[in-house]
Amino acid sequence: MSEALEANRIQHPLVETYLKSGAKKLFIGGQWIDGEGGRTFDSIDPATGQTLATVAHGSAADVDKAVAAARKAFDNPAWRTMSPHERTRLLLKLADVLEANVEELATLQSHDMGLMYPFSQYMVASMADVMRYYAGWTTKIFGNTFPQDGNGIFYTKREPLGVVGAIIPWNGPILAAVWKIAPALACGNTIVFKPAEQAPLVPLRLAELFEEAGLPEGVLNIVTGDGATGAAMVAHPGIAKISFTGSVETGQRIIAEGAKTMKKVTVELGGKSPTIIFPDADMARAIPTAVMGFTSGAGQGCVCGTRILVHESVYDDVASQIAAAVQDMKIGSPFDADTQITPIISREQLDKINNYVDIGRKEGATIATGGETYGDKGFFMKPTLMTGVTNDMRVMQEEIFGPVAGILPFKDTEEAIRLANDVTYGLSASIWTDNLTNAQIVSDSVQAGMVWVNTIFEFDPMVPFGGYKQSGMGRELGPDSLEAFTQTKTVMLRH
Ligand code: NAD
Repeated sequence: MSEALEANRIQHPLVETYLKSGAKKLFIGGQWIDGEGGRTFDSIDPATGQTLATVAHGSAADVDKAVAAARKAFDNPAWRTMSPHERTRLLLKLADVLEANVEELATLQSHDMGLMYPFSQYMVASMADVMRYYAGWTTKIFGNTFPQDGNGIFYTKREPLGVVGAIIPWNGPILAAVWKIAPALACGNTIVFKPAEQAPLVPLRLAELFEEAGLPEGVLNIVTGDGATGAAMVAHPGIAKISFTGSVETGQRIIAEGAKTMKKVTVELGGKSPTIIFPDADMARAIPTAVMGFTSGAGQGCVCGTRILVHESVYDDVASQIAAAVQDMKIGSPFDADTQITPIISREQLDKINNYVDIGRKEGATIATGGETYGDKGFFMKPTLMTGVTNDMRVMQEEIFGPVAGILPFKDTEEAIRLANDVTYGLSASIWTDNLTNAQIVSDSVQAGMVWVNTIFEFDPMVPFGGYKQSGMGRELGPDSLEAFTQTKTVMLRH
């Protein structure tokens, strides 16, 4: 176990100060308040298993308070009639806040959910670009005008929805938060935001920094808590829309419950994404990327490439190279420079991953490497490659959300496409080939919202992100998010 892990040091003085500053409260209407009845829960550092902070547990009554504060902020003329240019300046300021606090926010995120520190740093820094991208949109949210007979005008405008709810998972809270907060604010909404109970600290600190930078009170409210807190948001008639990122099961519940108050709902859900390697691929890039594809973030990413499909002519060689690379990966603290595998978010998630490895064994898979937990502090899983799998096995169909992949051969392009699509998910695919025709055929045929050819995990605020099939409804980023956070008003005006 690494030194940093042994010492359990908090890796940034500002984070240390923040954590020592006491229990974390709900942020409602610009005030920090206790949850109803003083209920709390602990946020745990998954690398050490130790408590980082005690956090208020929001109830339905707290959600109600947050919705009232968000509504008041929405109805405030200062917010409602803010000029688009002023809104641009505000969002640019929030982007500067992200950039100025990269180290602190990245350190907090890496402690709270175990993401590799350099990756966490990059993630926070790139969120400034997302904020700036939407800052640019505030002046370009247009409606239409329609031809008329001279006695009036018909036109449409895009208006904010009002109070919107955002609910996120634990695996990358800064990203999930900014992807929702930036477009929601650009469109003039106010927000009730619920972080995941496993990693609530970054959104809380972000709200504090945004408030200091001048975000008006009540525009962004943070209610921490578990699924029941989220369910109270979904049931609340004062919330117009839920923007959700998380599991399929919760997404289904949100769609069903949200229907009762006719909420607009967008959901970004799970995946079981293929990495497809053709024999003409640049193996020096394809193989390390396939490894990174299922081990990055210890496999706790919705877009992880957990089904590796390899042409039969190169299968043995590629499988053994991937197994060898995975076997040597260094497991440890997110803050150690040589760490390659970071912790799993919780004991519960570690048990779930282990259980899936057992299911794989029982289904007849061979554990080529890994297949067990690591160390006695925190929650670590050895990266695991399964061979001898078939695509109908549960381990090849269900999202495991850990550093576990199955690898299997295909004989031709047709079979690669069939295997890639033979799953209920459709979030992403990574295709490796030097043949442009092949690349085009496969990317056209693969049922996935995100297709990466000779690359993986590329995101840009300009381009929409989201899933096909059971991986989601709606898109985030790009102009699509503006659609998601506005509604059309048609005005037919006569004089
Ligand atoms: P989860 O669905 O268990 O929880 C996500 C959030 O929903 C948490 O904040 C949780 O408290 C809340 N929640 C739980 N029950 C709820 C309910 N009934 N009503 C309202 N809110 C409720 O997901 P998780 O285990 O925290 O996260 C992992 C999942 O998220 C994986 O499936 C992963 O693929 C997915 N994910 C998807 C994307 C994407 O963009 N497509 C990105 C990251 C993660």
